Amino acid sequence: MGLVNKPVYNTFSEYLLNRYGEKTYKLPVALPVSCPNRDGNCGVNGCTFCGEIGTGYENLPDTMTVTEQIAANKEHIAPKYKATKFIPYLQNFSNTYLPLERFVGYLEEAAKAEGVVAVYIATRPDCIRDDYLQVMKEIADRYQIDICVELGLQSVNYLTLDKINRGHSLAEFIDAVLRVKRYGLQTCAHLILNLPWDTDRDAIEAAHIMSALKLDQVKLHALYIVKGTVMAQQYAAGELTMIGRDEYQKRVILFLRHLAPEIVLQRIIGRAPAENTLFSNWSTGWFKIRDGIIRQMQEQGFQQGDCCDYLNGPALSKF
Ligand code: SF4
Repeated sequence: MGLVNKPVYNTFSEYLLNRYGEKTYKLPVALPVSCPNRDGNCGVNGCTFCGEIGTGYENLPDTMTVTEQIAANKEHIAPKYKATKFIPYLQNFSNTYLPLERFVGYLEEAAKAEGVVAVYIATRPDCIRDDYLQVMKEIADRYQIDICVELGLQSVNYLTLDKINRGHSLAEFIDAVLRVKRYGLQTCAHLILNLPWDTDRDAIEAAHIMSALKLDQVKLHALYIVKGTVMAQQYAAGELTMIGRDEYQKRVILFLRHLAPEIVLQRIIGRAPAENTLFSNWSTGWFKIRDGIIRQMQEQGFQQGDCCDYLNGPALSKF
């Protein structure tokens, strides 16, 4: 990761290496899906930060089949990195927001591709249901792969979720995590730690909730403001106060220190696209922000989980 000292948090690359015995690569796969918060099912305009293409700006067109997309991505990655193990990542919009039969077809196509060791599925907490989870478990067992459900949450503050027109609250997220876990599948949560209404306290509470729910993985992003979105209008009108890069780094450190040490961090800062945005990672390379966080933690002797002392009856420690 560019810095040589002992890792200060549980990195995804290390996790993949330990779990699959070699470097393993996520391959983005776009399904022809929408999102219930955009098509009128639970909302029409989507989350206020979400652009026309959803969140998957690295994707191939969804008119290509799953097999074609995996093959095209492999062709690009495999020779360059001598990669043999892969994780198709159903990334864009809400990938379980499909009739069950079609969802199963896509999932199975991804699961049986050569070299696939896991499939990661991004979706909304309100698109998780037992019959879908049952099939995911059957496919995981049949093809001897891991399945990880990546749930968009963004903030644990339900008032902030209302402000970004998320269309669900914290309760649906908790229900989804507990449900996914009952089927023995892995869980990941997506969080944006610098939504304009959130504070350091929200970041700490987010770490507490991730730890109490025993998420397997967490992915952090900084907010980027895409042109043409509701948030872009609010930003241009001066209605949003963005915290600075230093404050973001400080907030991520607070989050990491309160997060249970065994949770894996897929990312602590997103790779945001600079084009079509009004604000993106403080116009700084994502790796500089990541390395800044790591350096600060190393200098101050901080570790992921060194403030995780609040679970399992801490008040009873006096007895
Ligand atoms: S849930 Fe995801 S795809 Fe749907 S509007 Fe929000 S960010 Fe966009």
